[in-house]
Amino acid sequence: MKLEKATGIILKKHIIQEKDVIIDVIIQTTDHVYLRKKFIVYGILKSKKRSSVIVEIGNMVELNYYDKKEREIQTIKEINLINRYYELKDNYDKLVFLSILLELCNYASIADSHTIQDIYILLLSGLNYLQNFYKNDESLKEILVLLNQMNLSFKEIFLLFFSVRLLKISGYVGDLSKCSSCNNKIKEKAKWQEGLYFYCKECDPTSNIIDFFYLKILENITENKFNNFINNFIFLIQQFNIKKEEFLNVFHALENKINHYLKEVFPLDEKINLLQN
Ligand SMILES: [Zn+2]
Repeated sequence: MKLEKATGIILKKHIIQEKDVIIDVIIQTTDHVYLRKKFIVYGILKSKKRSSVIVEIGNMVELNYYDKKEREIQTIKEINLINRYYELKDNYDKLVFLSILLELCNYASIADSHTIQDIYILLLSGLNYLQNFYKNDESLKEILVLLNQMNLSFKEIFLLFFSVRLLKISGYVGDLSKCSSCNNKIKEKAKWQEGLYFYCKECDPTSNIIDFFYLKILENITENKFNNFINNFIFLIQQFNIKKEEFLNVFHALENKINHYLKEVFPLDEKINLLQN
């Protein structure tokens, strides 16, 4: 039995017999291999030496564990906290939001083990971004005011961004720059087909400006960092000249479509309503 070392993010935890905890972790080993693994941490909830805070979901931890290939759950020798991301957990709403991000990564990484590295990187940068944002970030203040004026919350924009990125990683987003039928560049109007595929105005006579607006938002998400996306997002809204009273309906329709698609491709719990919190 080999002693292994890894760092990881806790996606889920289950309490066993009021004292032990099984954690489901997305890990990066010292050889830069990315995996999903379950570990049992014996006695952590009754321990006088170690705090049970260490096994919270969303924690970044360092693990020393005995790896036995044929075993489903590995045994921890030592577990250390690297980052608790406390700023993402200091009220109930934030905790719900964090658990949605973790659930999404949980289902995406169950669905396809080849994408675990990209999911790990997306989740880690998401957690770090949110931590900085909740701490002090000044760079988005102006944009937040603009979002607020349109009755959009930072959380729903972030979740939309995160969900589309996850769909992209998992291979569920087509080439958004081209028509899925004729392969030409889509201009002015588009028609949203099944999944995340679009046709140009030549291929579908029902092409319209709203679907083209959605296409541009999705394209921006897949090509930009979050701060740049959000800048472009504000610019797109102004450019498309959608009336303020119509805008919320238009935007909620986009959220609903993404929400519906997520549930179609990942085996998500029906209770989770990703983009409506
Ligand atoms: Zn076409």
